[in-house]
Amino acid sequence: MLEADLLVRNIGQLITVRGSDAPRTGGAMSELGIEESGAVAALGGRIVAVGPENHVLDAVSIGPGTVELDARGCVVTPGLIDAHTHAVFARTRESEFAMRVEGRSYEDIAEAGGGIRSSVRDVRQASEEELFTRGAKTLDRMMEFGTTTVEVKSGYGLSLESELKMLKVISRLSELHALDIVPTFLGAHEFPDEYRDDRDGYVSELTRRMIPAVARAKLARFCDVFCERGVFSIEQSRTILLAAAKHGMVSKIHADELSAFGGAELAAELSAISADHLVCASDEGLKAMADSGVVAVLLPGTTLSLGKRDFARARFIIEVGGAIALATDCNPGSSMTESMQIIISLASMVMRMTPEEALVAVTINAACAVGMERSVGSLAVGKLCDLVLWGVNDYRAIPYHYGVNLAATVVKRGTVVSTLGRNV
Ligand SMILES: [Zn+2]
Repeated sequence: MLEADLLVRNIGQLITVRGSDAPRTGGAMSELGIEESGAVAALGGRIVAVGPENHVLDAVSIGPGTVELDARGCVVTPGLIDAHTHAVFARTRESEFAMRVEGRSYEDIAEAGGGIRSSVRDVRQASEEELFTRGAKTLDRMMEFGTTTVEVKSGYGLSLESELKMLKVISRLSELHALDIVPTFLGAHEFPDEYRDDRDGYVSELTRRMIPAVARAKLARFCDVFCERGVFSIEQSRTILLAAAKHGMVSKIHADELSAFGGAELAAELSAISADHLVCASDEGLKAMADSGVVAVLLPGTTLSLGKRDFARARFIIEVGGAIALATDCNPGSSMTESMQIIISLASMVMRMTPEEALVAVTINAACAVGMERSVGSLAVGKLCDLVLWGVNDYRAIPYHYGVNLAATVVKRGTVVSTLGRNV
């Protein structure tokens, strides 16, 4: 008999997402591995048994120290994985949002001191303590909404000193916060003011000084670039990502958000782990990504928040055999939400992803997009016991019933980290 210190029983629909840990594509994006009348048992934060309740109860011994959670016939899924965020920042930018609603252009807003560069000014002035406190609050809220693993980028420092400050804050949050955090270096988020007239100068600062220093300090697993017209060119993006790869960092790309710029093609060429946004990506680029196994991370919250009508082409990506993950893009400029639940709803409502595809996109495929598929993303023996007990008894209600928090209880590494206690 296996010992268990946590037993979740009486699960109406247990969504295991069991099977291969590779990114799911095509029809496999609809396979949830549902177990009716299921249970999950864990010891020391890892799953020791999962499946039909009678099998789990036969396999594990329950002692006086075992915590038992009654799912009351409801849905249980793996913890959600938010594969693209800028969750560490110093200040929100609601005044810019109001300007945008009134019809002011991006250029107007930038002239009035807004945009990414305003977040850069704020982060440069903020202390590590201030960034930590605000970041922890953001992560708390993500967790309440069912997120248990999150990727967090730097990119509001844009100098060696300030980027290292951000990455140290991300590393401290990773140590002290219950959420698992995957750190990404995004020194190539924008050109800092001091390099406005010497863009190639900043690229060599990145490749010669910043990337080696970040790698030496082991502060980032991935390197990301904002590859877009007016920001980093294809050539500059390639140079930066190849330099990062030499230092052991895996490539991610902010690709084709505002124009068909060739970012998706570059992601395929470099075998990036993911290319993100992709609203304007070309057919050829999306096909090349599918052929090279690059995960498409779609961020519908950003499109919605910017008031745009055209969303990334999820159906086309699935048709050509691509793998989709979803994320909040949580950031103070273009997507101020911590909730993966609203992203799941948007995926279904505006990108026509089925509830099954949306759930695969926020679990195993999102895990693949951040290189965490061996430990999270599905419910299998040996993986981390990260779960959401939902206040609904049919998983299709998760995208359907939107704008409210349906995550009744959230479990991270076998411990309850958030409880609303609400049911259906
Ligand atoms: Zn982003």
